[in-house]
Amino acid sequence: MARRWVSFPAKEIYLYKLLTISSSPNILSSPVEYLKGVGPLRGDMLKKELSIFTFKDMLEYYPFRHLDKTKIDKIATLNEGTEYAQVAGKLTHVELIGEKRSKRLVAYLQDDTGEMELVWFQGISWAEKLLTVGHHYLVFGKVGFFMNRVQINHPEIELYTAEKADGKKFLEPVYYSTEKLKARGLNGRAFAKLTYALLQQLSAKDLPENLPESLLLKYRFISRWDAFRSIHFPATEELYAHAVRRLKFEELFFAQMRLGLLRSTRHRFSQGWTFNKVGDLFNTFYNTYLPFELTNAQKRVLKEIRKDFGSGKQMNRLLQGDVGSGKTIVALLSMLIAADNTHPTKGDAFQSVLMAPTEILAQQHYNTIAALVKDLPVCVKLLTGSSVTKQRREILKACEDGSLNILIGTHAVIEDKVQFKNLGFAVIDEQHKFGVAQRARLWAKNTLPPHVLVMTATPIPRTLALTAYGDLDYSVIDELPPGRQPITTVHRFENKRPMVMDFIKDEIKKGRQAYVVYPLIEESAKMDYENLMKGFEEVKSFFPEPKYWISMVHGRQPGDQKETNMQRFVKADTQIMVSTTVIEVGVNVPNASIMVIESAEKFGLSQLHQLRGRVGRGSEQSYCVLLTGNKVSKDARERLKILCATNDGFKVAEKDLEIRGPGDIEGTKQSGLLNFKLANIVSDRVMLEAAKIAAEEIINTDPDLTMEENAPVKNYLHFQKGKTVWSKIS
Ligand code: ADP
Ligand code: MG
Repeated sequence: MARRWVSFPAKEIYLYKLLTISSSPNILSSPVEYLKGVGPLRGDMLKKELSIFTFKDMLEYYPFRHLDKTKIDKIATLNEGTEYAQVAGKLTHVELIGEKRSKRLVAYLQDDTGEMELVWFQGISWAEKLLTVGHHYLVFGKVGFFMNRVQINHPEIELYTAEKADGKKFLEPVYYSTEKLKARGLNGRAFAKLTYALLQQLSAKDLPENLPESLLLKYRFISRWDAFRSIHFPATEELYAHAVRRLKFEELFFAQMRLGLLRSTRHRFSQGWTFNKVGDLFNTFYNTYLPFELTNAQKRVLKEIRKDFGSGKQMNRLLQGDVGSGKTIVALLSMLIAADNTHPTKGDAFQSVLMAPTEILAQQHYNTIAALVKDLPVCVKLLTGSSVTKQRREILKACEDGSLNILIGTHAVIEDKVQFKNLGFAVIDEQHKFGVAQRARLWAKNTLPPHVLVMTATPIPRTLALTAYGDLDYSVIDELPPGRQPITTVHRFENKRPMVMDFIKDEIKKGRQAYVVYPLIEESAKMDYENLMKGFEEVKSFFPEPKYWISMVHGRQPGDQKETNMQRFVKADTQIMVSTTVIEVGVNVPNASIMVIESAEKFGLSQLHQLRGRVGRGSEQSYCVLLTGNKVSKDARERLKILCATNDGFKVAEKDLEIRGPGDIEGTKQSGLLNFKLANIVSDRVMLEAAKIAAEEIINTDPDLTMEENAPVKNYLHFQKGKTVWSKIS
């Protein structure tokens, strides 16, 4: 895989300097097998099973819960709400009950408030030997009730002695383990022992402070040393909470520091093409052919892009905007600026590419853009997997000889065969369908990397977006073009289908068009395909030819057939488009005013919102009908309710995050940027915001981290290098 930093010599050297200062050998870097009680075999297993390589990894392997053995409970206080309990008492009686499978050992423990049962189904003879009637025992375990009698099955049990009278001094940590580790004797409890031993070997100096003092004071954080001890072996619940809060902040803060440093490094040191001219193409288009006035948000974003273009640095910008907010025109205007500018020595105009995730979408972009610039001397071509050989040869030639200005296509445009004379700008639409590696291939297509604009219609809050999309700068179109009416969204059950179909008829009578969309889990899944066919027949029965004509589009069709069907709908030769989610992204038919989503309960929130965005593009009132079976789960009902309540993609995305969690922000899963050990970027959003502000303040005032008070931050980044920074620049 091409590594991006290879083409950034300045950045590379800079980061290298910033992050390579020989850090003194630290006990935390010791291989985990050197930890007492581990050794080579278990060490290997820890690496394989849990990626625990060093003492530090071990220290950062946090417990998922704690058991409170600091107090001794009275039997009479145990009730249905008690989960775990620690009880001290005298053993009054032991008996074997039942036969064969139901055989069990029951011991009766008594304190000064009452009596309870301890039960063993396994290890009976072992337990029998352990127990002596009349002795005092300390018992811990999960509390249960059987025929109204309180009991603990398979309790932890030991003789009760004077020094145990007050219970343990700290809460006992519980760790996840795996089957393989357990087989090697490394169960959750063994982890507690190892971690305890590790902490015994360490002292405060091994875990030096890594936050500036001002932050420690501002947020009243406990020290790192205390935090690590208390996250594993807290004396109280409260101390545990303090430890988690501090370490979470640290995680978020350093993630933001790294991303911020990458950004700042790019802003200061990367080299990019300078497009400082706004020339004839842009001006003529803007003054003569632009079919509408730009919204203020579009103007603002365009300004941001122009500023980047003129900076001499490489632009790497994320553009978020709800469906229908008008990102395409911003991309086109930016590409025209590129075409207005020329290579500093060779004199060729800069070329642009626009990459779309699907053929349909690429085709749509091509149609829109080619129509918009048809009276300008701008050469626009479409290249997809289904371009025929002759065409393809011509296009490749135009790229190479520089006569082409704008190339639109699917990932076909980044294949090695596509060589540009002077590529200066790349637009990536709906980025989540493109991997980082694909993006990186663009970098090698000119002597300097092209400016990059990544456009996405999955709007998420700014801080989250910046965390999820790494070192990109951020622009947002937070305003819809004027005259748009909010889409009226309703949920209807299956039994109302005839009424929904009648409603479509009314809309068609008014000259409008309709989409009917079927869920599709996999483009090729047989069952989905059959559902679609059945659906098509059903729609046909409501809308017979020749009064009505229907287009059908799905992933199994060859490209040209898809295109023909699309075009018939675009030209209004057909009134209804029956399709799978291949129309999810980007299709633009402003005359379509009604969207029926079949089995809407099977779609995620964001996807439903994207689909809905296909209507409401003209000035007429539009409708979205979410059709579901008569039985709908509570979760699905919740999703549908949100959609009926709001049209705002940011609100929908936020709810979606709340429901599904951050693991599902599309395209970010493989980036590793969201994989925090403690923090959750959704539920800890407030803290994420605070961490981001703190990191930004430092980077703005002290980008080289030379100030005394930022030394802890710098030292920690050095210590972390290799593991973190480099792996994220690819
Ligand atoms: P998206 O952001 O979802 O990609 P598009 O770029 O496809 O949105 O734009 C959606 C529709 O809005 C298109 O028909 C486009 O021509 C129209 N449009 C874009 N900007 C404006 C504007 N400023 N005023 C009016 N219509 C606009
Ligand atoms: Mg779009």
